[in-house]
Amino acid sequence: MIPFLDLKAQYLSIKDEVDAAVSNVLENCQYVLGPDVASFEEEFAAYSGAKFGIGVNSGTSALHLAVLAAGIGPGDEVITTPFTFVATIAAIEYAGARPVFVDIDPDSLNIDPARIEAAITPRTRAIMPVHLHGLMAEMDPILAVARRHGLIVIEDAAQAHGAEYKGQRAGSLGDMGCFSFYPGKNLGAYGEGGMVVTSKPEFAKKIRMLRDWGAEKKYHHVLKGFNYRLEGIQGAVLRVKLRHLEAWTEGRRTAAAHYDRMLSGSGVKRPQPRDHQRHVFHVYAIRTPHRAKWQEALQEQGVQTGIHYPFPVHLLPAYDNLGYRKGDFPHAEAAADEVLSLPMFPELTAEQCQTVCDAVRALAVPPQEEVARAKAS
Ligand SMILES: *Cc1c(COP(=O)(O)O)cnc(C)c1O
Repeated sequence: MIPFLDLKAQYLSIKDEVDAAVSNVLENCQYVLGPDVASFEEEFAAYSGAKFGIGVNSGTSALHLAVLAAGIGPGDEVITTPFTFVATIAAIEYAGARPVFVDIDPDSLNIDPARIEAAITPRTRAIMPVHLHGLMAEMDPILAVARRHGLIVIEDAAQAHGAEYKGQRAGSLGDMGCFSFYPGKNLGAYGEGGMVVTSKPEFAKKIRMLRDWGAEKKYHHVLKGFNYRLEGIQGAVLRVKLRHLEAWTEGRRTAAAHYDRMLSGSGVKRPQPRDHQRHVFHVYAIRTPHRAKWQEALQEQGVQTGIHYPFPVHLLPAYDNLGYRKGDFPHAEAAADEVLSLPMFPELTAEQCQTVCDAVRALAVPPQEEVARAKAS
């Protein structure tokens, strides 16, 4: 059996370091925020190429506070992609603003920068690109359109720790970058966690207050805030894990390279990052119009797969209020029907990749065969 994700293998490889860091927190009683969280904020901000990091209790909270820090609220619009996890959209609505969708580029699965300008209205305040599956959105044209219209850019980098665009890390290109440390993410806590990184001191200051009840110092509440604090144990775990992140990312990239090579000539559509991008493969998604059949057949061969995501947000009943319909974003809708995520974690071996690819190739019709069949009929 090849699991989709193997969190236990990773824990066992760093058990001594993690256990020591956790017991240190237990003994020092710094259970909420505290010195490990403060150090982790500095270390992760530096890793991401930003000046400040503010640890929070989830990626969703990071996005929510970034939107609030930008001064966005009721009556405002934020442009984003419908092909994402619901949290992106939820965070915009938590602030009272309206998410406005733009279709994706079918090759990258990320927001199509060429379609953004047409979605801008006098109420647009920000663009929120999502670096889906660990591949960064095309930031140059996104930043250019934002500059032309005076818009804030908030990166949803929840799946893109350490991803790069023209040598710059995810989270450092926009005004703010938001990360999730949910256990299954590329850098995962042993519980919930998130962070906003930014190089703008005014945003950092506001987010730092908002995550802890809007207080400038204890009991001096200058803003209406939240209890969005990161726990001490998570800070300690994340500090340990950050030291291994580059090696793990290279493990993912090696596995992805195996997949790419082992599926070449099979006709299977797979991720094609461009030269100026460092894909960190949170997810390795192939595409097939026969997804249900393939997923079942792979499961029978002992290969676990996932779907990220089966519905674009504009077609989810929870977001009926936005007034979109089927057909509004055809590329996002086709991707949601066809994507299939292969097993992906840093410890995946070449042998396991071969087993996965043999099973996939047995299902795929190679392009030359398809041509031959078409000729025969
Ligand atoms: C995981 C994720 C989030 C939310 O992060 P949580 O830590 O689960 O709250 C937001 N956006 C995207 C794209 C994600 O993948």
